[in-house]
Amino acid sequence: MKVYLIGAGPGDPELITVKAARIVGQCEVIIYDDLIPLEVLLLAKPGAEKIYVGKRAGMDNLQQPEINNLLLELARKGHSIARLKGGDPCVFGRGGEEALFLAEHQIPFEIIPGITSAIAGPISAGIPPTHRGLAASLKIVTAHEDPAKEAGFLDWHLLAQENGTLVFLMGATRIGAIAARLMQEGMDGMTPCALVQDATLSSQRHVATTLKDAADVAQEHQIASPCIMVVGKAVELSRTLYTKPDLPLAGTTVLITRPSHLAFRTASLFSAQGARAYLYPLVEITPLPYETPDITCYDLFVFTSQNAVPLFFEKIFANGLDARAFAGKGIYCIGPKTRDALKYYGIMPDGMAQEFRAEGIVDMLKSRDLSNKRVCLPRARGARPYLAQALTNRGARVDEILVYETTLPQNTDKQGFMAMVDKVDTIVFTSPSGVKNAQKLLEEDIGLLKEKRLVAIGPVTAEAMTKLGLPPHLTAREYTDAGIIALLKGAKA
Ligand code: SAH
Repeated sequence: MKVYLIGAGPGDPELITVKAARIVGQCEVIIYDDLIPLEVLLLAKPGAEKIYVGKRAGMDNLQQPEINNLLLELARKGHSIARLKGGDPCVFGRGGEEALFLAEHQIPFEIIPGITSAIAGPISAGIPPTHRGLAASLKIVTAHEDPAKEAGFLDWHLLAQENGTLVFLMGATRIGAIAARLMQEGMDGMTPCALVQDATLSSQRHVATTLKDAADVAQEHQIASPCIMVVGKAVELSRTLYTKPDLPLAGTTVLITRPSHLAFRTASLFSAQGARAYLYPLVEITPLPYETPDITCYDLFVFTSQNAVPLFFEKIFANGLDARAFAGKGIYCIGPKTRDALKYYGIMPDGMAQEFRAEGIVDMLKSRDLSNKRVCLPRARGARPYLAQALTNRGARVDEILVYETTLPQNTDKQGFMAMVDKVDTIVFTSPSGVKNAQKLLEEDIGLLKEKRLVAIGPVTAEAMTKLGLPPHLTAREYTDAGIIALLKGAKA
């Protein structure tokens, strides 16, 4: 049992430390908030519980005492816990406070430092925080406190005399007030000043200006949180030292709506291409109870979803069987993800559909004699009846086993969803159930989504979208993440 207070770095998932990555992979529980690169959650071991405690719009957020109590409760259950924080846990991250609380309650803990946005932020805009001849010191300052307030914790007069680099955090809405106060206390209005939003992320934007123009420039460029404000001569180097990463989907912002355990992976694929991915899972996989089937009586097993695979095999294997029990059986799957899921259980399918949907499976089996063959079809409740019907028409005896259903995740609501929608230019739907759930959330306002570029993973999802009056602008030709990425790259070119 131990609580690790971990810095997850400033945003770019590759800026997490090797140590943090290892510990995240070992913990049973991951507690995370905003500004965590979501890809980091991919490092969690299978089955690890992931608890979000941030302030996403429209959701009840936990207050600090509640987070402390959650840590305590989970630690007392004997879990090892990765408490992930953006940047460094102890740079305006309340890492120190949480550590003190744990110490008070005799819970073992360890602080794992991270790369803070206060240093990575300036650097990502080509500003070395210290530089010989330009800046001999670096001061990291909170902008949480209203600079217009007379008596506060900060000594603004001293800050205004600074001739090194000043970095303000948590100040997106206070840029003008900070600049005004520094000038009022004697700092030259011509002092170079930069604003860096989304530092180190593919969505990074920054502008270099002067202290006196900072507020206007921020407004003009619509600089928003998370952003740092850098003040000092080293800012001048930005023009020369900033190098733009050259990735095909740079500038694209995408909302991913698939179930969280799949969304994390999808998000990292998008990030690797330079897109900024946001997650708002609209689908949750809920296992359904079913009796363990007698697999000896089946000739064929058909898997139409990667979600069905673990739910089926875990049940079979729990009864003492393993992959050998499937020797001689025909096993077919719909696409590469389902094939990979089968491989994990020691099974190489006999065939994978050319086209990754039910029609593709029927096509793949067209030369196989199905008369009187018994087919086991583990699938989701509410999936299209097409496949079972088509196989039955060919003489097969099909047993459909409902192994899971897709539901709208708890904690979703209209306001929260729309807040995410507002952040992106593209929305990706990866299943008809995701589309249906979007409508459940938005009801008559579903049409609002039309303002975005809508992307469907394949024709079945596209059809569900069109039915709701949201015809996709783009439909992937290969019905996978890679297919969607290829499609977006093509659309950009
Ligand atoms: N512990 C964090 C800071 C948490 S306070 C760290 O060490 O980086 C949150 C503030 O950090 C934000 O308001 C913003 O000022 C800054 N911040 C965090 N990530 C950022 C990013 N990627 N780009 C710009 N500013 C960021």
